[in-house]
Amino acid sequence: METIKKIQVTKSFLPPKEDYLAYIDKIWESKWLTNNGPFARELEQKLASFLDVKHVLFVANGTLALQVPLKVWKFDGEVITTPFSYVATTSSIMWENCTPVFADIDPNTCCISPEAIEAAITARTQAIMTTHVYGIPSDVEAIEAIARKHKLKVVYDGAHAFGGNYKGRSILSYGDVSTVSFHATKLYHSVEGGAIITNDDELAAQMKLARSFGHIGDEHYSLGINCKNSEFHAAMGLAILPYFGEIVEKRKEIFKVYDAALPKLKLKTVTKPAGLDYNYPYYPVFFESEEEALRIKEGLEKSGIFTRRYFFPSLNLLPYLTGQECPVAERLAVSVLCLPLYHDLSIPEAEFIVERLSQLIDQK
Ligand SMILES: *Cc1c(COP(=O)(O)O)cnc(C)c1O
Repeated sequence: METIKKIQVTKSFLPPKEDYLAYIDKIWESKWLTNNGPFARELEQKLASFLDVKHVLFVANGTLALQVPLKVWKFDGEVITTPFSYVATTSSIMWENCTPVFADIDPNTCCISPEAIEAAITARTQAIMTTHVYGIPSDVEAIEAIARKHKLKVVYDGAHAFGGNYKGRSILSYGDVSTVSFHATKLYHSVEGGAIITNDDELAAQMKLARSFGHIGDEHYSLGINCKNSEFHAAMGLAILPYFGEIVEKRKEIFKVYDAALPKLKLKTVTKPAGLDYNYPYYPVFFESEEEALRIKEGLEKSGIFTRRYFFPSLNLLPYLTGQECPVAERLAVSVLCLPLYHDLSIPEAEFIVERLSQLIDQK
């Protein structure tokens, strides 16, 4: 029997082991394992300068990063959000006892529609929390104008946006707060981890306190939680950062193979706006129906190629929520597949994926 090499949808980047171990040796010397250690601080400084932002708070994960600003603002009302994201965007709103109100998405960018945000605003609306889907920036200008007009806070879930720039600025520099995930499956990672980004000094100070139980020494200032991160995680972040440019370049080459094949396959992907310096985090393709997407998914798996329904389901349809409709997000969530994409996926492998995809599409 022919053995099939499996091609997973993603694969974590690991730096050369010596690079990581050089940091670990230093941890053994210092015996400083966690609690705002030297590597966590060094990572925060390096990320702040890389992103050209004032404050980067290294935290335990990208989900708590979304929860902390809502907690610090003491919000308990409605938060307008996107149905087309990972479940954490919605669940963090609910975990903070706020009510998610879904605004449907733009079918070309998959990001929230500003018109739908306007239509969803009520007297109870306190914030907009939305995702830069697949690293495509949300319509930040329109969202900022809406937020200013209605006095709302804006939190961007930038879990996919690390390293991407829009109009000459890091995508993560927009909004009152931007968050990012450094989970192992992301473009840039620290195994587990994330960051909260803001240019607001006062808010940064409040969130720093909240990250670490709300106290400094014996002095207790405000309600807090534990969402700081360790020196071992910071070390991984520091060890990978020098390779980030290389990671993006490799993914860009794979993108070229997929992009070139799309017209022939008659498939659509997301539209990138002008002014975007892209970070190539995911390669979604949209099929005409759920049935077709599932047929292709299964067919590819028979050749050892694994894709992911990402994002699925549309979050307004979560079983613990009731009754809001988002027809665009619902249609796209059932018909999307993300193709394999990672730094060491070879060009011949990408070409093989395209070839199998093409054969399956023709078989219909
Ligand atoms: C991964 C992800 C998160 C959650 O990040 P974690 O670090 O896994 O908690 C949140 N939002 C989006 C859009 C994500 O892709």
